[in-house]
Amino acid sequence: MQVIHHTIPNSSIGTYRELIEYQFNTAPSAPVVFIQAGLHADEWPGILTIQHLIPLLEQLEADNKLIANFRILPYANPIGLDQHFYGYTLGRLNRENGQNFNRGFQLNLESLVETVKPQLSNDRNQNKERIRAAILQQVSDLPEVTELQCLHKLILSISLQADYVLDLHCDKKALGHIYCSDHLQETGKQLASCLNFPVVILEDVLEQNAFDGVHIQPWIWLQKQFTEYDIPLACFSTTVELRGKADVNDTLADMDSQNLIQFLINQELIAGNKQSRDIQLHISRLEQIDAVTNASPGFINYTCQLGNTVQKGDKIAEIILIGKDKANQRTPVVAGTSGLLFGIHDLALVRKGEVVAMIAGTETVREAKQISD
Ligand SMILES: [Zn+2]
Repeated sequence: MQVIHHTIPNSSIGTYRELIEYQFNTAPSAPVVFIQAGLHADEWPGILTIQHLIPLLEQLEADNKLIANFRILPYANPIGLDQHFYGYTLGRLNRENGQNFNRGFQLNLESLVETVKPQLSNDRNQNKERIRAAILQQVSDLPEVTELQCLHKLILSISLQADYVLDLHCDKKALGHIYCSDHLQETGKQLASCLNFPVVILEDVLEQNAFDGVHIQPWIWLQKQFTEYDIPLACFSTTVELRGKADVNDTLADMDSQNLIQFLINQELIAGNKQSRDIQLHISRLEQIDAVTNASPGFINYTCQLGNTVQKGDKIAEIILIGKDKANQRTPVVAGTSGLLFGIHDLALVRKGEVVAMIAGTETVREAKQISD
């Protein structure tokens, strides 16, 4: 294993930030696996999972079992990790401008079309190499004015070389689930099964600008533009939601890291015995996810539990209204669709309009855009 120390140019005098990259190198022509955690710096389960994953990979490297090259960022967002205020780490949005750290990832697809058009042929591998080179050239031309631009550009310069991109996040309080492009659902289902995560959320990534989407967008887009050429979908990219924010412990991290290794074995990126787990998956498109919002501020008392199957109209929680003339009044929160309750709020006090529950259903209940900006 090699450890690379990347420096992010400082934006204030007398400070600098560092990104560490663990590299495992096999053959230059081998596939590349990229894994990062903590792009939302207030989401820590993945950061601990990588601490468990690295020793496993070191042992596999010593045993000569690694087939792919690995690029791993044990923490992807030193800017966010430093946003510690009055006892809380607020690492989801950049305090400089309010930007979500996991948004703003988008390549110029029209420009990419023009760049690769004269280079394409019927050679699938050659197309892949040339498209990837054009993508990386575009990344090298991205601006690096702000600290966040520098961070995003640095990460993309590593991750866009990869054939597999696993971006480890978590929700507030949730069952494990993953997001991936609808084009990648077969591999997504295999990953969710390996992790024993019951929910797979399929997205139209062309509508989005999150980190996982930018890795598959160009391939989907170029396939659409150049139907006459053989262009692969050359990257499996996914957002892995490792349950809830409080689910940071060695037991889960050990289990998740071993399950990730099993997925990588099954994908023939590590040598070993393939094993699949047969679990019931709830596969929903993003527009079939009911993000239940709350109509009144107050304390929330859930009457259903994570993992419950609910019916449309079922009461899943009640809001205890505070400050009314009559004390202890309650108003129900109801499911807007039938399906699996897989996410809830992690705090007792909720504001009007907040998402307080996530239900994976089968009917369209929302637009096909990201649940939060
Ligand atoms: Zn996140």
